[in-house]
Amino acid sequence: MINLLYDAIIIGRGPAGISCAIYTSRANLKTLVIGKNESALFKAEKIENYYGFEMPVSGRSLLETGEKQALRLGAEIIADEAVGIDKAEHFTVYCINGEYHGRSVLLAPGAPAVKAPVKGIEDFEGRGVSYCTTCDGFFYRNRKVGVLGYADYAVHEAMELLSFTRDITLYTNGKELDISPAYREYMDTFRVNTKRIKGLYGQDFLEGIDFEDGTKEAADGLFVAYGSASGVNFAMKMGILMNGNNIAFNERMETNIEGLFTAGDCTGVFRQISVAVGQGALAARGMIEHVRKQRGKK
Ligand SMILES: Cc1cc2nc3c(=O)[nH]c(=O)nc-3n(C[C@H](O)[C@H](O)[C@H](O)COP(=O)(O)OP(=O)(O)OC[C@H]3O[C@@H](n4cnc5c(N)ncnc54)[C@H](O)[C@@H]3O)c2cc1C
Repeated sequence: MINLLYDAIIIGRGPAGISCAIYTSRANLKTLVIGKNESALFKAEKIENYYGFEMPVSGRSLLETGEKQALRLGAEIIADEAVGIDKAEHFTVYCINGEYHGRSVLLAPGAPAVKAPVKGIEDFEGRGVSYCTTCDGFFYRNRKVGVLGYADYAVHEAMELLSFTRDITLYTNGKELDISPAYREYMDTFRVNTKRIKGLYGQDFLEGIDFEDGTKEAADGLFVAYGSASGVNFAMKMGILMNGNNIAFNERMETNIEGLFTAGDCTGVFRQISVAVGQGALAARGMIEHVRKQRGKK
């Protein structure tokens, strides 16, 4: 039973997501923006190629003003991390602190996350190393698996693996665990290994992990969930089509899944604010049409 159904759920509070929210809110769509405070734009001290500013402006100031604009127009903005997405009659977006339902979704999580810094990891991709618990968890029933990560996303992925095996270790690769209160209670379910990883070993298939202190540990599979959830990784579990590392989209900024749109750096088009803002607006138009069609069906 869904208590609250949004018309538009936007994952990402960078220029792409906020631009989309401005349009959907003005079109009277009940809009929720979900985002961590990690836009690429925070790193930009001085921007002087974005339209409408005579003098350079900081990325932070653009982001803050954009959010205020979207809030004034009626969008809701929450700080949370999306870790999963599903589609039945409507979309459900699973976050660390709750789940949200929507008629349409925009994926605007920025550029794909950097790869985990583990030597040789690519050599075992598809041969023991996986980025998708939903796709590959089944192959590791009752086997010994690891999750490479140190934050909430890794715990989420480890929890997904519990339906296949109880033999799960979280490998943090020397990082301190950074788990939010909502997920801490699950930590007893897994082992945690905080040693720095030197590399992976195995013949045709992954057999284990070598650590910098000279020790090793056997592992049948290693699921990568390093850092926070890249919207791209969890969307792939839904069968979203990719174009290399980027989300594939049509002229309406819609992905291959009806009602699921995308915009910004995750599309791999010229990674600039103006492009993110323009794609956000285009996606909003598609979402508005999609929601009106859905409402018309009722
Ligand atoms: C140092 C630097 C300088 C730059 N200078 C310029 C410049 O001068 N001019 C210019 O035009 N462009 C510049 N850029 C590029 C510009 O910042 C990006 O093109 C733009 O920010 C892309 O917008 P976006 O909304 O797609 O992604 P982002 O701005 O990266 O925003 C992504 C949002 O998604 C959120 N997110 C990610 N994953 C999740 C998740 N799982 N759940 C919830 N939220 C999530 C992030 O926290 C963030 O809020 C610069 C970039 C950098 C790094």
